[in-house]
Amino acid sequence: MEKFTLKTNIREDGDDVADKDADALRNENQNLRNQVRLLMAAESKLYTLQEHLNNQQQIYARLADIGRQLNTLLKIDEICKILVQFVVYEFNFERCAILLHGKSGPSGVLLVNAHEGYYENDEIAAIETAKLQSDSPALKEFGEDGRHLCVNSEHECAHGCETCNIKQLYLVDEFYLFPLMRKEEGIAGCILVGNSKQQARYQTRVAPDGDMMVPLTNLVRQASITLANVNSYNALEEERARLDIAVAERTQELSTALDAANEAVRLKGEFLAKVSHELRTPLNSIVNVPKALAADYRLIDVYVCQNCSAEFQSDDDESATPCPECGGSLSMEQVTVCEGDASEHLRFLNLVQQQGTHLLHLVEDVLNFSRVESGKVKLDYQPISVHHLLHEVEQTILLSIGNTARCIRYSKPDVEVQMFGDETRLKQVLINLINNAVKFTSHGGSIDVCASVAGSEINPLVHFEVADNGIGIPSEQLDVIFESFRQVDGSSTRIYGGTGLGLSIAKQLVELHGGGISVKSEIGKGSVFLFDIPMNPAQTFPSPLPAPTEKSPEGGDA
Ligand code: ADP
Repeated sequence: MEKFTLKTNIREDGDDVADKDADALRNENQNLRNQVRLLMAAESKLYTLQEHLNNQQQIYARLADIGRQLNTLLKIDEICKILVQFVVYEFNFERCAILLHGKSGPSGVLLVNAHEGYYENDEIAAIETAKLQSDSPALKEFGEDGRHLCVNSEHECAHGCETCNIKQLYLVDEFYLFPLMRKEEGIAGCILVGNSKQQARYQTRVAPDGDMMVPLTNLVRQASITLANVNSYNALEEERARLDIAVAERTQELSTALDAANEAVRLKGEFLAKVSHELRTPLNSIVNVPKALAADYRLIDVYVCQNCSAEFQSDDDESATPCPECGGSLSMEQVTVCEGDASEHLRFLNLVQQQGTHLLHLVEDVLNFSRVESGKVKLDYQPISVHHLLHEVEQTILLSIGNTARCIRYSKPDVEVQMFGDETRLKQVLINLINNAVKFTSHGGSIDVCASVAGSEINPLVHFEVADNGIGIPSEQLDVIFESFRQVDGSSTRIYGGTGLGLSIAKQLVELHGGGISVKSEIGKGSVFLFDIPMNPAQTFPSPLPAPTEKSPEGGDA
């Protein structure tokens, strides 16, 4: 019994061990299988992770690339195009729009429909432009912190919120909307990245999800910085261009001013030469003619009767003889006798008088000019009869130039006309114009001086005209002859005298009256000088009247 038990024990022990080993092995095996399975799962996870990491690495490498590329660009539309291409190609979105507004550069929208362009025609679709208004729904969606907006295809509302508006406007169903931030100015625009409705032919699109966020945010940050830099650069360029234009304009102004100054210096030089010539001619006559006349006069000794004042040519011993007329005693005296021709003397005296008058006019012109130029002339307003004014002018012209061998006709208004003004100055203007007309019209020519009422009932004017049929003025000189020192012929060989101040003085005196003066002329046919003076001082405007036009005989404008 004991033996059997033992045997049994032995057999049982052996069986147990075997069983135990088998179990252990089985367990081990199971464990190993589990571990292998876990390892395989881990390996697969690792592989996926590795793949993900590779993808991310690639995206970051491309992001770095695009960053470098963007840094080399200066044109906003090129930058936008590259950004849009990047989003569509790298992130597999269907649509990308970059919306800029205001000062950020070309306001507009760059919209790329990937499914129409890239995936069908293998190229980016055409760029559409449209204004991004400051009240655009795309901008309204951002809060002050400028956080991005993420909308998926489940967003649907009945009342048409801003998000629905964006969906409609940019044909997107799910999208990210990132603000493009500018440090000082806040939101400068936005980037819209998204997909159209599900039925789109493009199947592998990426829905907005967390994975996309980091690289997209990086891209947007990069875009913000680039656009801000480009804007600053563009602003600088604009400023530089503005400065260039301002400098060019200023240079042009300075050069014009320099030309004008040079011209003024030239004219003044010419004027001085003219004035010295003009002064020398009459002065020569005034100095030399009396000298020549004086040569005709001689002092002789004569005997004068103390009783009857009779004169006798002296002979040496006549002092002792009595007067042959009355027998009175004679005394010797010296008297001056003229041995020249009296009519010749008169001619010379007339010449001196003429030259003296000419000199006087010249000096008056220069003095008047400097007084008018320095603003010292103050008008002495008085009521003036236009008839009387013309009469006075006529008399002065008659006295000063006498019979000029030119017919001067004066035509006065039909009825007596009263105006206000400085009579002396208005006479001066008319006399100046008439003297010029006489000077530039040959013998046999005619001069018409005319005064008439013009303007309107509210602003009545007196219109004066001095017309001649003399040499005329070249059209290119018509604008400049009213400037000081200007003469049509300013050369040293000119035939007509003068200083070139008369018309400048006339213009300033007319303008002091609040009037305007102008000229019309045709070479070889003659000239008409016209000026208008407001009838009443109340009408005297601070800025002169426009230059008048010729009046028809009826009183209307020609
Ligand atoms: P001045 O007569 O002393 O030269 P003005 O200022 O009076 O100066 O005239 C300027 C220029 O205008 C004259 O030199 C002349 O060339 C031109 N001019 C003025 N009046 C006439 C006129 N009636 N006919 C032709 N030329 C004229």
